[in-house]
Amino acid sequence: MLKGKVAIVTGGTRGIGLEIVRVFKENGAEVVLLGSRAETVDKAVSQLAQEGIKVEGYYPDLSNFEQVKEVADIVAKKYGKIDILVNNAGISASKSIDDTSSEEFCKIIDLNLNAVFNMTKAVTPFMKEKRSGVILNTSSMVSIYGQPSGVGYPSSKFAVNGFTKSLARELAPFNIRVNAVAPGITNTDMVANLPKEIIAPLIKTIPLGRIGEPRDVANAFLFLASDMASYITGDILSVDGCARS
Ligand code: NAD
Repeated sequence: MLKGKVAIVTGGTRGIGLEIVRVFKENGAEVVLLGSRAETVDKAVSQLAQEGIKVEGYYPDLSNFEQVKEVADIVAKKYGKIDILVNNAGISASKSIDDTSSEEFCKIIDLNLNAVFNMTKAVTPFMKEKRSGVILNTSSMVSIYGQPSGVGYPSSKFAVNGFTKSLARELAPFNIRVNAVAPGITNTDMVANLPKEIIAPLIKTIPLGRIGEPRDVANAFLFLASDMASYITGDILSVDGCARS
C-alpha cells in the first residue's frame, strides 16, 4: 500500500509510533523514525533490525525548528522526497490543575502541539514541490470529550484537531492531505504508567470490551497514508472501540 513512499514518524521508538514504523515498512515504505534520545533511537533501530526491518533514526529536539529542519533536509536529500509525515510523539499527564505547574503545562504543549507545527513546517516545502503529500497527526479520544484531570493533554489534542482541519484546507490545493487519528486507550507505556484505578473503570465504558492494541491504531495510519484514502482530508478518525464518553 505504500510502495516507493518515504515516511518520517516521530515518537517512532516505542508504542504506537514503533508499530506505525513496522506497518509502513511491511507495506513497502522507506521509513525514518525520530525519538527523543540517542539511546532509545538506537534501541528501536536495532530491535527492528532483529526483526529484519531496516530503518534509520534521528533524535532532533522537536521543539527546535532549526534541528527539525536539518533532519527533514537530510531525509529529503537522501531519499529525494518526503511523502508522509506522522506527527506521533506525545506525552500526557493526569494531575489536577492545582498540582500542575505552568512549566508542566508548557512542556505538554511544546511536544504535543508546537513540535507538530515545527515538523510540518519543515516537510511541507518538499511536499509542495512534488504537489503530493500526506500529513498525519496522532490526536486522542480526549480531543473530543476532554478528561477529568490533566487539562494540558486534552488541550493539546483539541489543538491538534484544529491544526489538522485548518491545514487540510490550506494544503488541499497542493494535493497534500492532512488527517488525524484519535486513539482510545491503547496498550503502550503511556497507559502502563496510569494507575489501575483510572484504567479499570475506563475499560468498562468501551463497547468493544477491550483496550486497543498498537496495531489497531497503526492500521488506521496505514489506510490514511495510502492512496486508499485519496479523497479524505481534514478528518479525525476515531480508533477507540466506540469509547466515546
Ligand atoms: P509512548 O509513551 O509509548 O511513546 C511516546 C513516543 O513519543 C516515544 O517514541 C517517545 O520517544 C516519544 N517522545 C516522548 N517525549 C518526547 C520528546 N520530548 N521528544 C521527542 N519524542 C518524544 O506513548 P504512545 O501511547 O505510543 O503514544 C503515542 C501517541 O499516541 C501520543 O501522541 C499519544 O498522545 C497518543 N495517544 C496514546 C494513547 C494511549 O492510550 N496510549 C491514546 C490516545 C492517544
